[in-house]
Amino acid sequence: MPLLLGCIADDFTGATDLCNMLVRYGMRTIQLFEVPPNGTIGEEVDAVTVALKIRTCPVAEARTQALAALARLRRAGARQFLFKYCSTFDSTGEGNIGPVADALLDALGADLTVVCPAFPETGRTVYKGHLFVGDRLLSDTHMRTHPLTPMTDSNLLRVLGRQTPHRVGLVDYAVVRRGEGAIRARLAELRAAGVRHAITDVLHDAHLMAIGHACADLRLVTGGSGIAMGLPDNFRRAGLLGENPEAARLPSIAGKEAVLAGSCSAATLEQIRVFAARRPVRALDPLELARGFDPAEIVAWAKPHLAEGPVLVHASAPPEKVKAVQAALGRERAGEIVERAMAAIARGLVEAGVRRLVVAGGETAGAVCTALGIRGLRIGPQIDPGVPATVSLGEPLLALALKSGNFGRPDFFLEAFRVMP
Ligand code: ADP
Repeated sequence: MPLLLGCIADDFTGATDLCNMLVRYGMRTIQLFEVPPNGTIGEEVDAVTVALKIRTCPVAEARTQALAALARLRRAGARQFLFKYCSTFDSTGEGNIGPVADALLDALGADLTVVCPAFPETGRTVYKGHLFVGDRLLSDTHMRTHPLTPMTDSNLLRVLGRQTPHRVGLVDYAVVRRGEGAIRARLAELRAAGVRHAITDVLHDAHLMAIGHACADLRLVTGGSGIAMGLPDNFRRAGLLGENPEAARLPSIAGKEAVLAGSCSAATLEQIRVFAARRPVRALDPLELARGFDPAEIVAWAKPHLAEGPVLVHASAPPEKVKAVQAALGRERAGEIVERAMAAIARGLVEAGVRRLVVAGGETAGAVCTALGIRGLRIGPQIDPGVPATVSLGEPLLALALKSGNFGRPDFFLEAFRVMP
């Protein structure tokens, strides 16, 4: 079977989250850092997600990287394309969601796409164009103080309106709840009115499903992983996709276990606290890292504990501490210092026999996988909403759980190892 869906994700754990959704709905899926230039995937799959790191880079670079990935996915034969961003719409005043979506639409010669960050399973809903996390508006949550993409406005029409010169419209809840036909009609109406980005209200999974089905004929779909829920059905209806009950099967991987956390989200801080009650934890201070750092020392600390079970190394800190570090080092430099440290520690831990690794934080996971020379991941069963167990493609085979900061239950760092193959 040829490749059906070609996806471009703006960060690493976002890509994994999307793959998780596609596998759950029966598409065999892998995540790659890069599609080979000739478009040869070399695996029997229905969907490929290219994990870029373009959430916070300069706009021009984000555009260039997304277009390069698109060109290769087209060469690989993909029929439809999906641009995946975070369900909390993580972006800055300049972008990069609007500019990347515009560039992809231009390249595909398409005139309209949906903008659907909602993911009700993890509490992200959209009503009248406003993004909620649980009971609160996005701008009233911890996302207000995110280290890289602080979100201080919950009105997606306004947020996206600042990122694109094109018209932004709304597929209102009143339309969405009437189902696929009504959504299709509304999209046609918005298209006729010159709207290029159609934000979709979503309160339940049934809405995501209906929106997904209504997107069957769009060349480009954009959103959080929730938008992928209805897409596999479209390929099935067209006779292009089978049932695939084995879509989530992974080889089993034995070895030592470790957790690396570079996310400063509230969820991650709580997960560290729960883990620390059971297993050894080592905290890194970015200000000390900036003065000089030896990863071998951390690995030497970990080694005696690894025989007994997992250890955790983190730089995660509450908002006031992150602010102080950023004031001293600069936001980007602080992030880079931590990411570089995590990457070096990951390499050391794998040399010490770790083969089962949990990483918290999108940017952090990207940095760790790059340092470990991981070309791609085969996606397996779900650990928690948005986070699947995965196994690396190529040697050494590693079992990995890569968690976007906000995701996972409080005991995630212990429970993940039970689901990993
Ligand atoms: P999330 O998925 O929660 O957004 P990320 O890893 O994508 O997590 O982003 C968190 C960023 O914060 C990373 O760049 C990381 O290096 C940086 N960071 C981690 N700890 C600290 C800290 N104590 N102070 C400042 N920045 C930090």
